[in-house]
Amino acid sequence: PDVSAMEVLESQDVNYEDIGGLEPQIQELIESVELPLTKPESFERIGITPPKGVLLYGEPGTGKTMLAKAVAHRTDATFIRVVGSELIQKYIGDGAKLVREMFDMARKKSPSIVFIDELDAIASRRLNDTNGADREVQRTLMQLLAEMDGFDNRGDIRIIAATNRLDVLDPAILRPGRFDRIVNVPMPDAEARENIFRIHTRFMSVADDIDYKKLAKLTESASGADLNAIAMEAGMLAVRFDKDSVSMAEFLESVQKVMSKTENKKEVLP
Ligand code: ATP
Repeated sequence: PDVSAMEVLESQDVNYEDIGGLEPQIQELIESVELPLTKPESFERIGITPPKGVLLYGEPGTGKTMLAKAVAHRTDATFIRVVGSELIQKYIGDGAKLVREMFDMARKKSPSIVFIDELDAIASRRLNDTNGADREVQRTLMQLLAEMDGFDNRGDIRIIAATNRLDVLDPAILRPGRFDRIVNVPMPDAEARENIFRIHTRFMSVADDIDYKKLAKLTESASGADLNAIAMEAGMLAVRFDKDSVSMAEFLESVQKVMSKTENKKEVLP
């Protein structure tokens, strides 16, 4: 298989504790992905089959990839990641083949978790499917559906997908036996933002004057990725001024800088 198209990682270093907020989402993944892989007998005893696929949806940078990696870490499963848009842009004509190879790999290296990022790039509802590019996407999607239908729920392969656009997905992909668990990953609220700041400054040398509650209040529209960027930037400022630790002043400057960037980004979007 062309390994450059997919990322195959046998061990992950993300833990549930590294994720701020998202407790209900973590719980959902424990029940639908972790337990089926680690305690299949519990499902057998009760007589239910776990879902094959879980779909995470939400804004960019809210922790969807982190969630998938953290579950993989807990189960020691092989983690195979592909990005939908890369499947069709970089591997023109080969999308379907890559999907097949990805599932072959998942079987060979099981237990495994297949993570499909940007699912919408290969699983959008087609408005007009007459042109060649659309047909290529269609073939990739058909292969994905065939692969999902072809394996057993009770087996040791789970599929997690992520998207920012639930509304454009082809309903075929959401049918029972495919992605039949849909989990919303929301933007962080104030409490979650405070947590995320604490997580991302854990290994930083920070001054006593850091007011995490205030930082959370000042970052109302920030995603987890934005908060990570703020912490990084504050650290960079401290380095630039040759300080021993990062203080609130650097954080405030960094909040301004990163937040004005994210505001601008939102304005250019439709
Ligand atoms: P995209 O839709 O753009 O792929 P995503 O939802 O998959 O984004 P991640 O890749 O999981 O987002 O998050 C990007 C980075 O942002 C993470 O590596 C982490 O540093 C930070 N981050 C995002 N959400 C959280 C969170 N809930 N807790 C802690 N860090 C977070």
